[in-house]
Amino acid sequence: MPTRVVLLGATGSIGRQALDVIRRYPGEFELVGAIAGRRVDALREATAPFGPVPMVVVDPDGPTPYGVAVGPAAAAALCAQDGADCVLVGGGGAAALGPTLAACRAGRSVALATKEVLVMAGEVVVAAALAGGAELVPVDSEHSAIWQCLRGEDPLTVRRLILTASGGAFLRRGLEALQGVTAAEALQHPTWQMGPKITVDCATLMNKGLEVIEAHFLFAVPYPQIHVVVHPESAVHSAVEFVDGTTVAQLGHADMRAPIALALAGGRRLPQVVAPLELGAVGQLHFEAVDPVRFPALALARRAGERGGAHPAVLNAANEMAVAAFLSDRLPFTEIVTVVASVVDAFEPPASVSLETIVAADRWAREAVRARLPTAVGRGG
Ligand code: MG
Repeated sequence: MPTRVVLLGATGSIGRQALDVIRRYPGEFELVGAIAGRRVDALREATAPFGPVPMVVVDPDGPTPYGVAVGPAAAAALCAQDGADCVLVGGGGAAALGPTLAACRAGRSVALATKEVLVMAGEVVVAAALAGGAELVPVDSEHSAIWQCLRGEDPLTVRRLILTASGGAFLRRGLEALQGVTAAEALQHPTWQMGPKITVDCATLMNKGLEVIEAHFLFAVPYPQIHVVVHPESAVHSAVEFVDGTTVAQLGHADMRAPIALALAGGRRLPQVVAPLELGAVGQLHFEAVDPVRFPALALARRAGERGGAHPAVLNAANEMAVAAFLSDRLPFTEIVTVVASVVDAFEPPASVSLETIVAADRWAREAVRARLPTAVGRGG
């Protein structure tokens, strides 16, 4: 019997690639639900090749036709339905949190591509998965790589997780030249085709900072044992170092359909998902240590992660706001991490962590960034 999949974020980049995988392996997967944030027409178009599929639009941008449900409660119900084996969380950012928790509590296999879910509420999500008997399966390319490197290994023999970072669009630019970079320049990612926000996060290395927090929750490894190395070719997707001195790495093309298919199939390898990496054609691979002066986002993310509780949620929300300000020319590139750091360090955490306190911390952080934004255009004085 095929794995019955609910797709959260069906109209985004991950969602489109997941639909491609599901369509190509009809004996393996069956689409039993699709959820989009706003775009009703795009959702109908994306799911059309699959025949009638239950659909939910969380906050529709137009009238919803017969058969399309509306609202976050409907999205959560679709994720928790008995007729689903696996929920792929492929978009939605913070809005994916509620439906993800519903899937965890219902004991579904939860394939996670949306890192915000674990960054914001890792403690809550992991507890919900444990309580519901749900398995959290990584889809983010680095975490999928680590998951593959860890298979069959004794967790006690892991020395370090090694996350690779492309270094983004400005790896070779001097600190001074970084001051004046534009949003258009920041959106040129050397190896992966992604949305604007994550592409900026790659250039600041905040994306890797968020992934360190994600790895902490997915693999229950303490922060000091999660290492980051710059690897401009993005061929090694990540690696694990073991106590005997061996490092196991996973390599492949930068194509998200590989980790998506592996996660949906519960770790089983399907034939010909993507083209294999021709090592002779790749030629050289480069690795270098992260420069902490150029990339302060990494230490900041570790600090937020170590403090725990709602601190990572504050980091995530403040970063979203600061990146949005940069993309609309209201904040210079080099000020993104400065503003986020000032908000993270000003945060006074609540006594306990719950979904409510996390949502409140997220809201507080967004307001705190707004208060710190320059009123005039920031770039060029
Ligand atoms: Mg990644």
